Amino acid sequence: MIDQKDQCCVSVWTEGSYCEHQCSRRGVIERDGKRYCKQHDPMRKKAAEDKRKAAWKAASDASQKAYDRRVACEAACEGVATCELVPGLVARLLADKEIRSD
Ligand SMILES: [Zn+2]
Repeated sequence: MIDQKDQCCVSVWTEGSYCEHQCSRRGVIERDGKRYCKQHDPMRKKAAEDKRKAAWKAASDASQKAYDRRVACEAACEGVATCELVPGLVARLLADKEIRSD
């Protein structure tokens, strides 16, 4: 049995119960005078949260970029008949390119 002063200081809920108790793991990391197990280390939790937020932001940015591209493509194709969309768009892009290169 671990001495209570060596235990992780975090209170956890007992599964299937309304009671909480002190985490039974050994506190191996000390932060601000409190001992934490590896799972409840506040710095580890923050790093995991930062990683989740970064992944969410990357996915959100990619989604926004794809949306912006679709909107730009639809605007560029405005007024072009669907049956002539691809050849018409290529011709228009080539014409624009020639105009810009002059
Ligand atoms: Zn713990």
